[in-house]
Amino acid sequence: MADEVKIYDLTKMQDPYAEKRYISKEAKPDSKYGKLVFEFPMENNEIEAEGVGTDFVYRPQAYFRGASQIPGSEFNQSFQVMVKPYFLDRVPHRHSKDEYLIFLGASYPNIFEFDAHIEFTLGKDEEAETFIINKPTIVRIPAGVYHCPLNFKEINKPVFFLATLFTPMFGAIMDLPDGTTQEGFYNGPIPCKYNPNKKCDTCGKCLLEKWDEK
Ligand SMILES: [Zn+2]
Repeated sequence: MADEVKIYDLTKMQDPYAEKRYISKEAKPDSKYGKLVFEFPMENNEIEAEGVGTDFVYRPQAYFRGASQIPGSEFNQSFQVMVKPYFLDRVPHRHSKDEYLIFLGASYPNIFEFDAHIEFTLGKDEEAETFIINKPTIVRIPAGVYHCPLNFKEINKPVFFLATLFTPMFGAIMDLPDGTTQEGFYNGPIPCKYNPNKKCDTCGKCLLEKWDEK
């Protein structure tokens, strides 16, 4: 016989430890959970676009750069407000995990205020299909599926662009002209976790850290 299920009113429940909890006004020494809370650094795009330099995207941008920022994370997320046309990705690539691309208006608070013309291709060669994005849209790109070019052709109102990739570090698998493939990584202009005077060279050492280890 099944146990009787008790129904609690969650709006009235209290955390019995609420009064005793540590409130993090400053970093707690030996904090158990501190590595799970990461403040976004301001980043400034370093990638140049033909004709518009580096400022096709509003400065600063926020990015969450996966396991290099929260140990063990398998999640990369960009938060970019596109303000000028820009041909972001010219050749098809694929990833080892799913990716999502999200396009919303950046005229807050109405994210449905959208006035842009973006072209995005899913598939490769004879299978490829190009989609016109001119309304708030999300695209799922399953692991292994070729995608791009991605071209922000017309930006009449700022576009909030989020690229989400479920890997520890952002990267892509490219087909090279000689028939081989190559996986490349890009972790932005952030400094190395172990040497703040050096730019991250995507060596991958910090990806092996665990959040619950000293
Ligand atoms: Zn991609």
